[in-house]
Amino acid sequence: MAYTIPRGTFDIIPPDSTKWQALKERFQALAASFGYKEITTPIFEQSDLFERSSGESSDVVQKEMYRFTDKKGRVFALRPEGTAPVVRAFVEHNLAALGNQKLYYWGPMFRYDRPQAGRYRQFYQYGLEFIGSNNPYWDAELISFLWLFIKGLGLNKMHLEINSVGCPNCSSIYEQALREFYKPHLEKLCPDCQKRFVSKPRRLLDCKVPTCKNIASGAPSQLDYLDDECREHFQAVQDYLVRMEIPFMINPKIVRGLDYYTNTAFEIIYEGLGAQNSMAGGGRYNGLIEQIGGKPTPAIGFAGGLERLLIALENEGLEIGKEAVPDLFVVAMGDEARAFILPEINKLRHAGLAVEFDPDKASFKAQLKAANHCKARYAAIIGEDELRNGTVALKDLNSGEQESVALPDLASRLLKLKTGNDIS
Ligand SMILES: [Zn+2]
Ligand SMILES: [Zn+2]
Repeated sequence: MAYTIPRGTFDIIPPDSTKWQALKERFQALAASFGYKEITTPIFEQSDLFERSSGESSDVVQKEMYRFTDKKGRVFALRPEGTAPVVRAFVEHNLAALGNQKLYYWGPMFRYDRPQAGRYRQFYQYGLEFIGSNNPYWDAELISFLWLFIKGLGLNKMHLEINSVGCPNCSSIYEQALREFYKPHLEKLCPDCQKRFVSKPRRLLDCKVPTCKNIASGAPSQLDYLDDECREHFQAVQDYLVRMEIPFMINPKIVRGLDYYTNTAFEIIYEGLGAQNSMAGGGRYNGLIEQIGGKPTPAIGFAGGLERLLIALENEGLEIGKEAVPDLFVVAMGDEARAFILPEINKLRHAGLAVEFDPDKASFKAQLKAANHCKARYAAIIGEDELRNGTVALKDLNSGEQESVALPDLASRLLKLKTGNDIS
């Protein structure tokens, strides 16, 4: 084997590509129904954008980012996440002047991480960003979008967890309380947690090491340290979710991996995914836009992983996306018949019909077999009689019924049959 795919990446090949297409179509249709519009940014940005937004000490920036230097010595990074690029575009194009922005994205992200089930180095995310208002209604609406999207695929084994991480005001008081709580346990914590103790005590709460997990179970809750404004905001989000009939539970231990989150944080947990059980998550990031050079602007967003969504669909035995089958397979006997039908094939395709023709198959039998193999709905058979009369024998490959159709009427006849079939 000469070449192999880079570790931690994958090809999306048929028939699986049909599922990806179907997921994107569902996502886009739902986004449109919520008034969200697509934004596409480059897959690489100035490395500094992510260092500034994620925090230089974050795992993403420290260990996981694909950095490279171009020929002029500029340092870029393959995007490890989608929010910072969207916010960069928001500031750069002065989208604030146009009012609240409802944006969605879809595409590959890159992190140099240990590959495992459901975790890749090039992975695909879908996400929403709402920029421009601190009204808790938007938090709930965005969460309801995510819930409806996942629920709409037929998935059942998941639940929604929400939390509030407060604003910089109440969160610094809470972090102080956390440090005091952890101080007597410091020696028992894992090396990572010991490092995070000063700069990011909050991250100690979601450490997966059993000893750390054990200690974290007794830690004080952020929710007991929210100031009035943050408490009211969180309560309002919950009230909206109740009214929208979105089921949720409160988990005070949700901390998001990135530095820029404020107030609402949420996650969808899938019960059949093992350690990598987070399907999607997000939160408010009221501080980020100012942090990367814009005017202070409140915002909220989420991102979800498509690989895990597909694993979950498989886990629950759900099918998504039907493979397209041709409307017509052309069976032409001999050179004369081919010369006769060839100009018609692209006319039929132009009319919106999916038409297959395979000159590699010579015999009548081989061509019909190919027609059945690709699950074509009809076959148009052209033999000596048809050549003489300017007709085709149109054969329904399900029922075996056959009718003679004049060549100029073939497209309209097929379109009519197709509509009839779709209705029934
Ligand atoms: Zn606060
Ligand atoms: Zn730890």
